[in-house]
Amino acid sequence: MTKGVLLPRATPPFTPSTITHWRATKPTLPFTQKRSIIATQPPLPCFLHDFSKVLSRTACSSSRRTNSNGLSYSSRVSLAKAVSINTNMSNYCTHSTDEFCSSKRRSRGPVMAAKRAAEGVTQEDGKYKHTVDLPKTTFGMRANSSQREPELQKIWEENQVLKNIADRNTGGNFILHDGPPYANGDLHIGHALNKILKDIINRYKLLQNYKVHFVPGWDCHGLPIELKGKCYLLSNIACSLLFHLPMYKLTWSLDWEARNNLTPLKLRAKANKFAKETVKSQMSSFKRYGVWADWNNPYLTLDPEYEAAQIEVFGQMALKGYIYRGRKPVHWSPSSQTALAEAELEYPEGHVSRSIYAVFRLVGAPVVSNDLLHEFPNLCIAIWTTTPWTIPANAAVAINPKLEYSVVEVESLDERASSSGENKKKKFGNILKDEKIPCLIVASELVSRLEAKWGVKLAVKRRLLGSELENYRYLHPIDNRECPVVVGGDYITTETGTGLVHTAPGHGQEDYVTGQKYGLPIVSPVDDRGIFTEEAGQFSGLDVLGEGNTAVVKYLDENLSLILEESYEHKYPYDWRTKKPTIFRATEQWFASVEGFRDAAMGAIGHVKWVPAQGENRISAMTSNRSDWCISRQRTWGVPIPVFYHLQSREPLMNEETIDHIKSIIAQKGSDAWWYMTVEDLLPPKYRDRAAEYEKGTDTMDVWFDSDLYLEGTDQHRGWFQSSLLTSIATTGKAPYSCVLTHGFVLDEKGLKMSKSLGNVVDPRSVIEGGKNQKESPGYGADVLRLWVSSVDYTGDVMIGSQILRQMSEIYRKLRGSLRYLLANLHDWKILQRFVIVDLSNFYFDVAKDRLYVGGSTSYTRRSCQTVLAAHLLSIVRVIAPILPHLAEDVWQNLPFQYTTEYGSVAKYVFEAKWPALNERWLDIPVEEIEFWGKILELRTEVNRVLEVARTGKLIGAGLDAKVYIYSSDASLAFQLSELCEAKNDADTLHRVFITSQAEIIPSLDDEHVKNIPYSGECLIQGKTKVWIGVSRATGSKCERCWNYSEQVGSISDHPTLCGRCYSVIAVQMPPEVAAVS
Ligand SMILES: [Zn+2]
Repeated sequence: MTKGVLLPRATPPFTPSTITHWRATKPTLPFTQKRSIIATQPPLPCFLHDFSKVLSRTACSSSRRTNSNGLSYSSRVSLAKAVSINTNMSNYCTHSTDEFCSSKRRSRGPVMAAKRAAEGVTQEDGKYKHTVDLPKTTFGMRANSSQREPELQKIWEENQVLKNIADRNTGGNFILHDGPPYANGDLHIGHALNKILKDIINRYKLLQNYKVHFVPGWDCHGLPIELKGKCYLLSNIACSLLFHLPMYKLTWSLDWEARNNLTPLKLRAKANKFAKETVKSQMSSFKRYGVWADWNNPYLTLDPEYEAAQIEVFGQMALKGYIYRGRKPVHWSPSSQTALAEAELEYPEGHVSRSIYAVFRLVGAPVVSNDLLHEFPNLCIAIWTTTPWTIPANAAVAINPKLEYSVVEVESLDERASSSGENKKKKFGNILKDEKIPCLIVASELVSRLEAKWGVKLAVKRRLLGSELENYRYLHPIDNRECPVVVGGDYITTETGTGLVHTAPGHGQEDYVTGQKYGLPIVSPVDDRGIFTEEAGQFSGLDVLGEGNTAVVKYLDENLSLILEESYEHKYPYDWRTKKPTIFRATEQWFASVEGFRDAAMGAIGHVKWVPAQGENRISAMTSNRSDWCISRQRTWGVPIPVFYHLQSREPLMNEETIDHIKSIIAQKGSDAWWYMTVEDLLPPKYRDRAAEYEKGTDTMDVWFDSDLYLEGTDQHRGWFQSSLLTSIATTGKAPYSCVLTHGFVLDEKGLKMSKSLGNVVDPRSVIEGGKNQKESPGYGADVLRLWVSSVDYTGDVMIGSQILRQMSEIYRKLRGSLRYLLANLHDWKILQRFVIVDLSNFYFDVAKDRLYVGGSTSYTRRSCQTVLAAHLLSIVRVIAPILPHLAEDVWQNLPFQYTTEYGSVAKYVFEAKWPALNERWLDIPVEEIEFWGKILELRTEVNRVLEVARTGKLIGAGLDAKVYIYSSDASLAFQLSELCEAKNDADTLHRVFITSQAEIIPSLDDEHVKNIPYSGECLIQGKTKVWIGVSRATGSKCERCWNYSEQVGSISDHPTLCGRCYSVIAVQMPPEVAAVS
């Protein structure tokens, strides 16, 4: 038989402390229930959540007893509350000392006295000190994390603990796929949250006997690199901004001289080196967090096999017809003829645009119409734009469906307008001088502002909701096409303009999105130099930022479409290098068409488990609205889109043969080959003789991944979760994961976003190692950081700051103290094995006689109590291990005995010990008994109050100086309490629970004797049972050894200073040296 099996047998029938401890043990029960929940797929994500819930629920029952933990921090701190159980537990133990208890105890017991005596402090009662069992442990009170955690990590690494346990485990595979961070610089607290959550899950699964594989990854391609001067400056740009970083752009973001010498290959070599260095440094930080992974075999998106796999996926989608070439607007710099990333734009002060108010004539109403055109046959919509040159590319006018609009009549003209008053800033349009000015539609809220601006009176003729305007049609002011009025987004406001927005999908991001929704043409009649193309008709050849703009304004005015032109100063993007204005311009891009597999994707979403559940709504909404998806990136650093273009026709060449050929080359040589090999070599044999007709594409592609469980930030509903889902559906028809768990973002303590300018950034490294000022920001170690991760409700945004960290460290300290208490009282537990195996079952019903320290080393009471302590320690240490692996391992390495698993092997490391199993017997305690002990604990609190009053009144010092009297009119309670007072086993008696020398249940309050009890009080137990409590000095004299008062002290002739109990203990106790040998 092994300890693991035997432990529980000792538990139920023992002392009050046993029962009390049993209450504290309770958290392990729901955990085990939870195991069954977790065993159903998907196994993991519920863990943390339930863990927190269970802990906080369990903690509540005892938390009313004490608030000594000072946990004023929010209800989210659930593990934190659970820890209070442990501290309470030590409160229950009679002879705990300051050193081992987290909360200060008022009464000092014989242990302290013995300890002082052992330390050479003169004490009268030193005579019996060797008969008192002092706590002993090698486990330090101080965590000393900066030293101890790396030591423990070294032990794990050198002994390959993760690999060995995973190999040995028999519970099947568990694979959590790592969504890779960009290899672009130092880690922030969000990375820590993400990786620690993953590690907690992995370690939990490891304890649950799973073969855990965790392969960490890095996205080395989504790499924003800027070279400023001679240093790499790493910008933390969101991936959306990477979309538009073109190849030559990257070279330009390097310094001027470097740029001229830098071929794509040289650039790629630099990026490769940089990415690998970053991976190395991030890896060492993750290791320091205590994250376990296969660090020797990470997956990097720059690995050739990974790149080839991407080409494969792309090829499959292309061959299924899901890939096509289309246009999308990007920031474009005509002055350097390149696309720009957001990071490469500047917004200088003082930019002035020529803004215009223009009108477009309505010509058609939707079928179900409220007939505006009948009532107002000469009706126009008024728009406002700061880029008149985009009017030729106009494809729609967008309204906000929730805004109110008005049909207005222009009634009288201001002098300035009618006299064609002009100044530098304003020029009124000819239309205002026309006899028949049409009625206009503008947002109601803007009417008075427009009156002032245009110098007119506007009479409101009709009001209507924006949604009623949808699908009206108007004539394009330049080429007389019919265009629709469409519903735009929330970007349409009444802050400026008219409330109706000129929409040119080829020249604006929001316009493009609206255009996708309505299938609007993406017109962009502008070339690389910013010159109108032939498509722009009469404007062809004109510079859009100069004479082209002027020409468009002039044309509109001549055709009575211009109300007003005025200078408008605003922020406008400039090329950061040339310091010249940029434009938005549609360029050719590769797209994945979502339409072909949208239904399949929506279906697959329903089969995935989303944690939290609203994740499903988010991704469903995003996927159902998903427009086609731009997969090409104008970057040199990445996996190339395997396409050739015909030099004359620009027709792309891409088919099964070309893709397969390129894939095999990249699998062998890496994607650099695309840049250094010739077109001839990259083409399959069949096309080689035509190599001269083709050139290579220069775009790279968005990166894709597959996995089982995904656990990333909520922003990934839009990003990785969705792109993975869609690519997987497109290629395999199945979702790439069975479960997706998301966490929120990390904010500061006030709930503000972290930013350098606010100075509220929490750096995970300084949480662990401490900041510059160690007093203000001490190093807490990885476990405190991990404890924080476990304490937050990660499903929403979470907060961190110095206050929260201090609380976490306090909780950690208490937890450590409690574990130390448990460890220290088990120093001689080896002997217990014999006790458990041989004696316990024989004397199962023989109740304990003595307590932990003074009850005698070999006494059943002490042993039973130790059994409970051991059960606690072994459960707690394993339960906290996923969250606080360093603390747990530190405890394990200091266990004063070996732990043998149910498989018969010795667990050298805590993770070899497996998750604690449910013990049915512990659940068998009758409900009435649990309720009774609930009452007792409540009563104990009330008794302590009266004792406190008596102490203040100088009647007593320690609790042991007192005798407690209880009266209850509830006969059944009184009976139960009397039974407890007379319990034959010494440890179970009521006065031991109260930690007083005596307790008595009195039958009536009328007795004369009662009137002489100096201190008393009344209380309600469980809100209904009235109990009277009295306190007087204990009778008899104080025992030298156990400090209890007893009438027997003085009556034993060889030991006149001992009570009867102590006398019987020392009479049978082995001398300490003998005990040590056995
Ligand atoms: Zn005694």
